[in-house]
Amino acid sequence: MIDSLPSLSAVIREHELRAKKSFGQNFLLDLNLTARIARSAGDLRGADVFEVGPGPGGLTRGLLAEGARHVLAVEKDARCLPALAEIANAYPRRLTVLEGDALVVDPMVYLTPPVKVVANLPYNVGTELLIRWMTPRDWPPFWQSLTLMFQQEVAERIVARPGSKAYGRLALMVQWRAEAQVVLKLPPEAFTPPPKVHSAVVHITALDRPRYPADARVLERVVAAAFNQRRKMLRSALKGLAPGIEGYLEAAGIPPTARAEEIGLEAFCALARGLALKN
Ligand code: SAM
Repeated sequence: MIDSLPSLSAVIREHELRAKKSFGQNFLLDLNLTARIARSAGDLRGADVFEVGPGPGGLTRGLLAEGARHVLAVEKDARCLPALAEIANAYPRRLTVLEGDALVVDPMVYLTPPVKVVANLPYNVGTELLIRWMTPRDWPPFWQSLTLMFQQEVAERIVARPGSKAYGRLALMVQWRAEAQVVLKLPPEAFTPPPKVHSAVVHITALDRPRYPADARVLERVVAAAFNQRRKMLRSALKGLAPGIEGYLEAAGIPPTARAEEIGLEAFCALARGLALKN
């Protein structure tokens, strides 16, 4: 056991935490596994952790047992609060639990840098938060790393390279200014109840600055237009962006007949810079 608290199945029984679909609940009950996920976030000693959706607290206990300096856990389902309060008692002054919606809470009111985000979230909330965390107004962001559970198909889109079917907006948005790796794959049976799909933990580390210069909004527009019509040649997928788009493509070293999924990050950034100069 990683701590002296009761097993997670005992906690769930005692507090009657039957998983609810409406909250996207698929719990991890194996504390060795949650400690492993916590370790995949890197060294937690000396870091504050923002955990979204702690549920009955399996991952929370992993984070604390692995030495996180302070954990802020935000949970929407009030039924989980008594179980989380027991963990807070076992780790005095190291766990703050908030009842609320992670999409609304500002974690930096409670945390001190460096901050690592670690979460096993409902899949839809996870993607929405990832996009938000990847597109702050200023860079570097408030977080040093994100260690997040996704359905495997989304995890593959995050780490995808040019030339693959999974490559697109998500890969470019993340890889432009962060390093992303799949660190753990989990079958449905790892969860209670098991979801329909396989899952994977992705570890994302923020770079100090983007890999290649570009204006974030122009790059996002270019990439969105390119992949909205991913089967088309870029000269036609992007023609709405500027008159004479072929010239901009050529100046960025991109053949106008190429398709979006063949083009790497560096070339997309060069194109975004060329178009920004024109605007
Ligand atoms: N972390 C726990 C674990 O690994 O066993 C629970 C995982 S479960 C997939 C997702 C948790 O996120 C649930 O406890 C759910 O109530 C909570 N949740 C869902 N939407 C949320 C939101 N918008 N803000 C905060 N918590 C949320």
